[in-house]
Parts: sequence; structure tokens; C-alpha cells
Amino acid sequence: MSRRTLIAGNWKMNLGPVGAEKLSMQLKSSLLDYQSVDFIVAPPFISIPAVVQKLKHTGILIAGQDLERAVSGAFTGGISGEMLREAGATHVLVGHSERRNIFGDTDEIVNAKVLAGFRAGLIPILCIGETLQQRDSGELEVVIAAQLSKGTSGLQADQIATIIVAYEPVWAIGTGRTASPDQAQHVHRFIRTWLSDNLPSYVAQKVQILYGGSVKPENARDLLSQPDIDGALVGGASLNAQDFKGIAEAIQ
Ligand code: PEP
Repeated sequence: MSRRTLIAGNWKMNLGPVGAEKLSMQLKSSLLDYQSVDFIVAPPFISIPAVVQKLKHTGILIAGQDLERAVSGAFTGGISGEMLREAGATHVLVGHSERRNIFGDTDEIVNAKVLAGFRAGLIPILCIGETLQQRDSGELEVVIAAQLSKGTSGLQADQIATIIVAYEPVWAIGTGRTASPDQAQHVHRFIRTWLSDNLPSYVAQKVQILYGGSVKPENARDLLSQPDIDGALVGGASLNAQDFKGIAEAIQ
């Protein structure tokens, strides 16, 4: 089964509605030529309506960067999946390492957010990855397997087949330090093998596994030519239309 290539941009806490609209206009004209690649952007919540408006009919899809577990209620500052869906998002990042490390999202919370994403009709992009200390102490595979199994707990195989997994080694996010293509492929292969060992075989064939961690036009080709790397989750370089386009160009 061939999987389409997906490039997702995580804008993090950058670009209010004005800046987001400007970048959307630039992306709209830059990305039209890449019919064989799918694109998603994840703007800050407040900028989603402006981005949805500008990217209408372009095929570029919108993700929330996080969501609350509840549908609505007394959760001051929270945004639910249902609200994201209503605003035009189709996907939602869950378990990004910044949410885990800064905001305290545990594997249990991440799992509840994945379920909440499905409840709202969003496709979760489940982010997993090890710290440098975990890698150096030989815990890499244990950590990845635990994050996968806890993150997808309670889901049907058919649901897991539709999620997107983003492998993002914590030590490579925003650091300029990238996993080598071999290091990344090793973990992506481990993730796919875990899926095929634990679920019906079609699931592992279908799930798109993205690599994230300092992806740039210069390193995208080597990373994305690996057999189990189906695309990229891009932070810093997604804030510049030329660089985002450069990543798509590099892998064509
Ligand atoms: C990210 O935030 O998901 C990410 C991969 O960031 P960067 O590309 O800046 O390392």
C-alpha cells in the first residue's frame, strides 16, 4: 500500500491573525505546484479562522495545536475539539513534547485527548519521542512503545489506521540538531513493527509516520527518502513560506 507524503507545519505560539493571514497567502501561491504532497498547517487557535478563510479550496488542511478533553464547560482558557472542528480544522496535534514537558500532559492525558479528537471528528496527529537521556540510557524503544500503546489505548483498529504518528526526538526539536536518516528510519521501522505486532496488518501499512525535529530544505530529502518516513512535522521552517516550499521541493 503506498502512503501519500504529508508535510505538516506547527506554527507554535507564533503569528496572530494578521501574520497568519500573510503567511497563508504566501503558502497559497507557493504550494500549488505540489499535487503529490499533502499539506497541513497548525496555527495558534486565535488565527485559525483567518487561515481557514485564506486557504479555502487550496487543499491545505488545518490542525489545532492541542485540545481540551471536554466538549465544553468550566475550563477557562480551554478550546475543545468540537470548537476546532466548527472553526474548520480537520486535524489536531496531540502530545507534542512542548505540551508534555511545559504543560504537563501525561500519556493518560494524551490518550484522553486522542479520544476527544475522534469524538469531535478530527484526525489526531499523535506526537511521540524520547529525550536525550532516555536514548542515552538505552530506553528508546521502551519509551516509544509505551507512548504508542498508552496514546492509542481504547481505540478501535480502524481508528488507529486513520491517525498520523509524528516521531519527534525531543533532543532534535528546535535545537538545529536532526536525527540522522538512519536513526530516524530505525525508530520509524520500530513504530511500524509495533503497529503490525499489535494490530491487524493493514493498520501498519496505512498509518502515516512523520519525522519531526529541525527539518529544513537541506535535510528533507535524505530523511524523507527513508522507506518508513512518510512526511515531516516542521516547526521553525514552517514559518517561512520559502523554506516550507523548499521542503516539498526537496522531496519531489
Ligand atoms: C516541532 O515543533 O514539532 C518541531 C519539529 O520543531 P522544529 O522543526 O523547529 O525542530
